[in-house]
Amino acid sequence: MDLKELGEFGLIDLIKQDCIVDASTVVLGIGDDAAAIIPTKNMLQLISTDMLMEGIHFDLSFISPFQLGYKALAVNLSDIAAMGGMPKQVVVSIALPKETKTEFIIELYRGMKELAHQFGVNIVGGDTVSSLHGIAINVTVIGEVTEKKLQKRSEAKQDDLVVVTGTLGSSAAGLALLQKGEYTTCHFYDSLVNAHLMPLPQVVIANDIANYAHSMNDISDGLASEAKEIALASGLGMRLYAEKIPLSPDLIVASQALKTSAVSYALYGGEDYQLVFTIAPEKYQLLKQCHLVNNITVIGEVTSQNGVVELVQEDQQIVQLESKGYNHFI
Ligand code: ADP
Ligand code: MG
Repeated sequence: MDLKELGEFGLIDLIKQDCIVDASTVVLGIGDDAAAIIPTKNMLQLISTDMLMEGIHFDLSFISPFQLGYKALAVNLSDIAAMGGMPKQVVVSIALPKETKTEFIIELYRGMKELAHQFGVNIVGGDTVSSLHGIAINVTVIGEVTEKKLQKRSEAKQDDLVVVTGTLGSSAAGLALLQKGEYTTCHFYDSLVNAHLMPLPQVVIANDIANYAHSMNDISDGLASEAKEIALASGLGMRLYAEKIPLSPDLIVASQALKTSAVSYALYGGEDYQLVFTIAPEKYQLLKQCHLVNNITVIGEVTSQNGVVELVQEDQQIVQLESKGYNHFI
């Protein structure tokens, strides 16, 4: 069956099942003019939105509808994580060509619901419209954070350590492998391709980090760009060390096949959805003692140079980093 036969209301009925994971915060979900939700007392409400466009952000020849749904939600939960908060509610708007198969939408929502269940997030509404060309998915997420844990970009302090979660560059290398058709022949690169197609938002670790850090960003546009944003917003600089940037063993192998340095994938590739944060050295020691925090790496320090992010390369030469992440209007 396609959308023409199912109709808008049939579609919404199909979507509606299993959308509420935590009923204690929802008075009204899907089915009225607006959702009614209950905020937690004394918490700040966070709100953020991200839109994925076919042909710009995803290519349906590489990503399955399930993975697309998962990723559309993941990138939004990552923004809430980067503020130190917990995601609570989402609304999902989709634009679909009339020929879209029902199966596609079921799979898209199955992907979203999988992640929503993992993080106790409710899908409380959305909008569905037709599109002449291609698919668009917009997710808006509402989260909560205490004022104390709120992680602003502008609060880095001189002599803070610069720390990242996980490994970087895998997603960009995964995309390059898919685009070059290198992946189908070799399942060795699963971890890189998965990092690109189904990034896990770092909500849990972010909540521990937010107890101690001064400022935090999620890494959607590449480390160089995210580090620069924190430096500029804080009126400070950073010195990062190439040899300290955590890279997965698979990335190191793949980068040779792709003839691009692994570090440049980490700096400029983007879509890792890991976190970069700054933290006082003594607080870093406390953070390391949290049992959930076992996957963080110090990659540099905050300096006094306004907006300047330097990289100490493997050959010890120092270069200034520019924000060369993906820019939609270049
Ligand atoms: P309205 O005409 O009041 O905007 P709609 O007919 O667009 O209402 O939607 C009916 C209900 O279904 C609303 O609760 C809306 O939030 C929900 N909804 C519509 N499209 C989606 C979607 N793609 N995902 C989740 N909920 C949706
Ligand atoms: Mg509507």
